[in-house]
Amino acid sequence: MLKDSFGRTFPYIRMSITDICNFKCGYCLPNGYQVDKSDNRKFLHLDEIKRLAKCFSEFGVNKIRITGGEPTVRKDFFEIIKVLKNDAGINKVVITTNGYHLDKKAKLLVDSGLNGINISIDSLDRETFKNVTGHDRLPEILEGIKNLQDLGFENIKINAVLLKGINSSKKDFDTWSKFIQNNKVDFRYIELMQTGDNLEYFKKYHASSKIFKNYLNENNWIYQTLGKDAGPSLNYINPEYKGKFGIIAPYSKDFCKTCNRLRITSRGDLRLCLFGNTGISVRHLLQKDDQLNELKDLILKQMQFKKESHYLELGDTGSTKNLSKTGG
Ligand code: SAM
Ligand code: SF4
Repeated sequence: MLKDSFGRTFPYIRMSITDICNFKCGYCLPNGYQVDKSDNRKFLHLDEIKRLAKCFSEFGVNKIRITGGEPTVRKDFFEIIKVLKNDAGINKVVITTNGYHLDKKAKLLVDSGLNGINISIDSLDRETFKNVTGHDRLPEILEGIKNLQDLGFENIKINAVLLKGINSSKKDFDTWSKFIQNNKVDFRYIELMQTGDNLEYFKKYHASSKIFKNYLNENNWIYQTLGKDAGPSLNYINPEYKGKFGIIAPYSKDFCKTCNRLRITSRGDLRLCLFGNTGISVRHLLQKDDQLNELKDLILKQMQFKKESHYLELGDTGSTKNLSKTGG
């Protein structure tokens, strides 16, 4: 099992498979995806992904989240899921997606053997959704969720970035409450994070997740204590609701204590922290099957460099220009 010098173990990897995205979320890629002229390396190809995942699987990693950019824009996206599950031996393969064409992709996703899906929906108001993402696609995403559920797919989470004056009012919170009352999906607010590119946006729209926490406390939601392998989400239940609420608060003081994830960028850099500067390319060791032991040594050595915490509260965003690059 991978372990760092603070005793944290890492059964979970977030793997970005592309930086490309078809949305223009104001906090991430307000001008849409732009080719990075400073880095002409191609995105990891299927064989490289397979070798890397196999290596992690030998380290006891049982869950990989595929992310991006928008992971579903890759032509071999469904093949990647299959390779991770069938060839690399990863038990749980989950994705984070903006839900583009989810209505049409629902069946393919279920058939691929996917174990869970996080869908980003910043607002249930169609106009607000369009303003934040640059796309009028809320109906197809909601239809897609329904299609997944009709096919018996259960592990559905919705993430929204909490944005002051956009989706942070009591009315917004009530709308989500209503949505999850009879609908078995978990909804989480993520506190807006400052990145290298979004300082102005951050200053304008950052709201503390405490406002949502207070709402939950005032409305009989019960905090669920963290399980052994829990990630950084604080989860709340209410017996009268089928879905759960959650908060991801990267600025809270204990956020990093429960860190159980490492990241791989779409070009094969191992990133020890979303906001750290530490990370190296492991790609040269993904070229042949017989490099497995060398790759394992390199990853093990890197673990000692994982820091105890990020320094976001000091405005230090590390080398993260926006989350599409590091795989949010
Ligand atoms: N394109 C996919 C999507 O939007 O779900 C996957 C990649 S996206 C970078 C992953 C998650 O990061 C999304 O839920 C997105 O809302 C969130 N995100 C992006 N930039 C963020 C920021 N600056 N602060 C907080 N969350 C952010
Ligand atoms: Fe694209 Fe996701 Fe970034 Fe939005 S948050 S621009 S959907 S990568």
